[in-house]
Amino acid sequence: MPDSKSYQQLLLQNKAWVEQKNNEDKDFFKRLSLTQTPEFLWIGCADSRVPANEITGTAPGEVFVHRNIANMVVHTDMSMLSVLDYAVNVLEVKHVVVCGHYGCGGVLAAMGNKQIGLIDNWIRHIKDVYRMHVDELDLITDIKAKQDRFIELNVIEQVYDLGKTSIIQNAWQKRGGPVVHGWVYDIRNGLIKDLKVSMDNDEDMPDVYRFEKTTFTPVTK
Ligand SMILES: [Zn+2]
Repeated sequence: MPDSKSYQQLLLQNKAWVEQKNNEDKDFFKRLSLTQTPEFLWIGCADSRVPANEITGTAPGEVFVHRNIANMVVHTDMSMLSVLDYAVNVLEVKHVVVCGHYGCGGVLAAMGNKQIGLIDNWIRHIKDVYRMHVDELDLITDIKAKQDRFIELNVIEQVYDLGKTSIIQNAWQKRGGPVVHGWVYDIRNGLIKDLKVSMDNDEDMPDVYRFEKTTFTPVTK
């Protein structure tokens, strides 16, 4: 079998990791098997260089994670919506982080005109972000600076797109949270930049996206 060695290596590393965890804390797996109470939902890029737990120094059980190409919040994406609904309404996470990263291949592809394949249809959503911000982006002559800014603007639009969902708007009304944040990870130095676009209400939302407030019946447990 080609590459069987590298594949086996993952299983060996898993055994070593289990041993290490058990040595550090004998109840680690027992505790995690009972429940999960993460405070954070992470919506990040599928890029192998941006592992949510590792770059934030968090352990299993601390971050609920959804990843796709270019950390997109596409409001017809059932997978993203299901993760969001479960995280917000069942796990009741306090924060939702959209984390992009500089050098994101998906975002950079959206700046060009080359056909790649099926993924072109996913990337279309990122092209829409370019069109929304074409005036600002076309003024930037330095290509690196332009790419970096486009990556930031894409994250910011995904934060707004979260705020446009009924899931987030209803949670804001019901419990005043979660806070939605926009971050960019720099693969060149490992640091995360907070874009400071955090939202916990719909006040800055264009009127057309704001749903009427709903009357909630308290759930009795
Ligand atoms: Zn990416």
